[in-house]
Amino acid sequence: MPAAIWWIRRDLRLHDNPALSAAQRAGDPLIPLFVLDEGLLEKYQKAGRRLDFLYAGLRALDADLRALGSHLVVRRGDPVEIVPRIAAESGAAGVFAQEDTHPDAWARDRQVAQSAALTLTEGTLIRPAGSIVKGDGDPYTVFTPFKRTWLDRPTPRRSDLLPAPDRLTPAGLDPGKLPGEAGREAPDFPAGAAEARRRLDRFAGEALAAYDQKRDFPGEPGTSQLSPYLRFGMISPREAAVLALEAMARGPESGRKGAETWLSELIWRDFYNHIEYHFPHVHSGNFNPAYDAIAWRNDPDEFRAWCDGRTGYPIVDAAMRQLNETGWMHNRCRMLVASFLVKDLLIDWRWGEAYFMERLVDGDPAANNGGWQWTAGTGTDAAPYFRIFNPVTQGKKFDPEGVYVTRWLPELEPVPVDYRQAPWEMSAADQERSGVHIGTHYPAPIVDHRSARQRTLDAYKQARSNHFNVGYATFK
Ligand code: FAD
Repeated sequence: MPAAIWWIRRDLRLHDNPALSAAQRAGDPLIPLFVLDEGLLEKYQKAGRRLDFLYAGLRALDADLRALGSHLVVRRGDPVEIVPRIAAESGAAGVFAQEDTHPDAWARDRQVAQSAALTLTEGTLIRPAGSIVKGDGDPYTVFTPFKRTWLDRPTPRRSDLLPAPDRLTPAGLDPGKLPGEAGREAPDFPAGAAEARRRLDRFAGEALAAYDQKRDFPGEPGTSQLSPYLRFGMISPREAAVLALEAMARGPESGRKGAETWLSELIWRDFYNHIEYHFPHVHSGNFNPAYDAIAWRNDPDEFRAWCDGRTGYPIVDAAMRQLNETGWMHNRCRMLVASFLVKDLLIDWRWGEAYFMERLVDGDPAANNGGWQWTAGTGTDAAPYFRIFNPVTQGKKFDPEGVYVTRWLPELEPVPVDYRQAPWEMSAADQERSGVHIGTHYPAPIVDHRSARQRTLDAYKQARSNHFNVGYATFK
């Protein structure tokens, strides 16, 4: 049999991997190829934590392959040139890879397909991109009906999951140099499929049933923290969905609501990838052009204060410090810091989107863009533009004791619980008593939320009216 290439991109796993299975059916030996794309490395050169995680994941995958008698083949350069060359040199029957909905990935794959027999498979999402559309074939732009259709289709079962191979024939190619250094990945996120499976099992046993009640409280371990592993396909999203569906089937007393809510989050992931697939322009601007004319303030000092966690709003600052220190942030806090940047500071959401892509271990173009446009109110299914999170009331609601805030801002530990979300409200005597002087030990708020809110409402209204004027003039 001729060889077949499994071109690994964001599917660093052997279990339930449709591209790997298709390659195995097409040829033997299997060539597990990973190309370090110089263009992408250049684009994400500041995203060191995510790269370290990817590199550690590649080392883990290599170890898994070696246990089966094979090894990873790593090359560095332009995949458009490298993949067809290796296919030709090895006489491979074909190249098999999981689809990637990013517009740059489509462009790359289209080019590769001109000079190699490339087959794209599903496996990146639970439901492949473009498979959930309206009755007339149009894409959904609103999550709820998308989810309804998603749930109406036959759902995956455990028996659908593809087994990992139990033995592989070595391809005889030079392995190349594995990138990165051992032990450099973020300590909170050891890479690899085995760790992903351990997390999934632990989450299923400890937190899934109460997910609907606990997932909004950043001080509690109420979510799976699987996002970096799903980002790089170290776990199959279909397997995660099967786990949720099985828990739902067990009934209300075993936490059906928690499992339903978690499945819904996995469907959000599918949704944003569908949006990216149908509307690639989201990566260059607002999904909704009505907001193209927003007069952003884009103050660089305020942006820096936001990045560094020095805004004077504890929930925002704690979250930014969590991001900077660990490469991950709780979902509720992602919404709050994004809202603060866009709606309190009136800074273009694209600045925040780019900063997140630098810092997040799970930085995923589709989910990140979706999250930012949702919060900015410029996207599909957007929260109305006039929904502006109040960082103090949100902090009091979701971190009532200030557990999360003081974990990341230990300087606020001596502040009485009642003031932990708004320490500037302490009287001079309280500041003296606690030893936390606002402006010295912790910054005063860089904006007044009430007036900033009004400023943003005005800017958004203005942009909308400009847009409609333009539309009317064009129509005339
Ligand atoms: P869980 O609550 O356990 O959810 C399970 C999985 O579902 C997650 O791992 C993730 O893959 C998916 N998921 C959950 N919520 C969402 C969502 N709202 N949109 C899409 N997928 C979701 N998620 C990323 O994976 N990468 C990003 O770059 C990213 N950027 C974001 C930026 C902003 C401004 C916002 C508001 C959200 C962003 N999210 C992103 C979505 C979400 O915050 C994270 O997926 C979640 O916090 C990851 O934690 P978890 O694994 O514990 O999630």
